[in-house]
Amino acid sequence: MLLIYCLHGDELASEEIAKQLNKEFGIKILIGNPKARKRKIRFIESDLNRSFKKSGTYESNRAEELRQFLLKSNEDLIIDLHITTAKMIPVGIMTDPKQLNFAARLGLSDVVLMNKRFSKGGSLIENIPNSISLEIYPDKNSIKQAKRFILNGLTPEQKTDNFNIYEVVNIVKKEDAERNAENMRKLKNGYYPIFYGEKAYKKVAYLETRKSTVTIGRC
Ligand SMILES: [Zn+2]
Repeated sequence: MLLIYCLHGDELASEEIAKQLNKEFGIKILIGNPKARKRKIRFIESDLNRSFKKSGTYESNRAEELRQFLLKSNEDLIIDLHITTAKMIPVGIMTDPKQLNFAARLGLSDVVLMNKRFSKGGSLIENIPNSISLEIYPDKNSIKQAKRFILNGLTPEQKTDNFNIYEVVNIVKKEDAERNAENMRKLKNGYYPIFYGEKAYKKVAYLETRKSTVTIGRC
């Protein structure tokens, strides 16, 4: 298992968590975007998490470097740790329902199924096998939970059976957003908003999701 931090260079809390887990538990860690991290900015030329299989920027080169390294490394699980400014509980991010197995291994019961329209094929989890992203709002409790999820990843067993799946169906612009929306609280149209309050999303207020619950048995 390997933990990637700072795929976005301004998510400094992910570095803190990664370095601590490395020091205390020997978790293998890897920095995503070292140049952007140095400057404490999200990216230099293009969002690294949209730059896989692309070309022409510092980040697209870095994405290719990471891809080749990670493919060679043969890790059975790669956790891509992100920090969000949206106040919400920690969630796993997947682009393929098969990645739910990794959420089960981490003990993560809240998972967002990202829409390809949004990630456009350039995200890490779409290009690296055995990977899942973990998004956390960096308050004390969520950091504690995130560390537990990551440590759970050290053993392959399934840690949780029941999942809330939030499948992204719409990207809602600020002018179209429902007033007083709250992450994961049902909207009038029946959907559930997530990432409300994410500052990196500029024109987007939140992602609208269809919520479902899934149980997977242990064998
Ligand atoms: Zn991020």
